[in-house]
Amino acid sequence: MSESKLVGGCLCGEIRYEIIGEPVFVSQCCCKDCQKATGTGHTTIIGIRGDQLQMAGTPRTYTNTGDTGGSVTRHFCGTCAGRLYTTGDLPGDMKIVQAGSLDDPNQVSPINAIYVKDKPVWDMLDPNIPHFEGMPERPTG
Ligand SMILES: [Zn+2]
Ligand SMILES: [Zn+2]
Repeated sequence: MSESKLVGGCLCGEIRYEIIGEPVFVSQCCCKDCQKATGTGHTTIIGIRGDQLQMAGTPRTYTNTGDTGGSVTRHFCGTCAGRLYTTGDLPGDMKIVQAGSLDDPNQVSPINAIYVKDKPVWDMLDPNIPHFEGMPERPTG
């Protein structure tokens, strides 16, 4: 993974963030909630410890119940609706950042694909990374 800093923000620039240190994981998530929340076939997510995220600006939030039965809160810009990160009843104190909100998304590369059982047939994934039908065992940093 790159040594350079991971910085990003929403579409309109009102909310900016910086990730301190190396991500714990980067995954392609094909779950139904990601599809509905992003309007895409899958979303690319960066798992980090909670204390690795430094925010400038205050996102709006939307909370629902995730696949595991725990609550999931999505954080997004109230002006442009750009998705930023997700928190919830995850293993440990984790935040899940939307990789597409990075200023340079090429700084990260997914190590696996999860919830592939929900993937639309037209959405193509890298066949060279492991694919999981649901949620794999995750490192918790
Ligand atoms: Zn915005
Ligand atoms: Zn998902």
